[in-house]
Amino acid sequence: MLDADFFRRWMMVAAASVDREAERLTALDSAIGDADHGSNLQRGFRAVAATLEKEAPDTPGAVLTVAGRQLISTVGGASGPLYGTLLRRTGKALGEGAEVDRAALAEALRAGVEGVMALGGAAPGDKTMLDALVPAVDALGEGFAAARAAAEEGAVATTPLQARKGRASYLGERSIGHQDPGATSSALLIAALEEAAT
Ligand code: ADP
Ligand code: MG
Ligand code: MG
Repeated sequence: MLDADFFRRWMMVAAASVDREAERLTALDSAIGDADHGSNLQRGFRAVAATLEKEAPDTPGAVLTVAGRQLISTVGGASGPLYGTLLRRTGKALGEGAEVDRAALAEALRAGVEGVMALGGAAPGDKTMLDALVPAVDALGEGFAAARAAAEEGAVATTPLQARKGRASYLGERSIGHQDPGATSSALLIAALEEAAT
């Protein structure tokens, strides 16, 4: 079973991973965006980590709700509201119980991903974070390692796609040949889930 501690660990590992990979995320965004994805997320996840150190939300749902709120208020850029919505919707769907199992997490994450689609109007194949998140949620039933592998594969598979949403879409065909920064950070987020579980 996964308790509040697990979810706090997930967010802390994600924050550390974003810190480590910020330059790479920004470099990816400099190719097809405005070179701020790494710094945007770094600011956001540092705020998440600081808040979770101060407050100790005592249910899985509350941890993600608090984290999502921090991302919305600190990240700016397209990814802030989108990731914020992902975590808040997931948190809300987890409900108020003290523990959840992996199947309940998969179902809640599905609701979170649907929130991202509703807010941003994107679908898989549009070269966005959804290209990592959707396969990850589909694979989560098989385990955290399967979800991580699916997210990483999904992120890599954005390279040959032409962007249809977000800033990269302004480039038209010139967005082809570059890995999407948001799909790459989503793969980090899912990898952090596996790390938190081990
Ligand atoms: P901005 O583009 O405002 O500078 P970021 O650089 O932080 O914001 O985030 C860019 C990432 O956000 C993209 O790589 C893409 O994965 C994701 N993104 C942008 N628009 C959308 C959307 N409508 N739906 C889902 N993801 C999106
Ligand atoms: Mg950007
Ligand atoms: Mg920006």
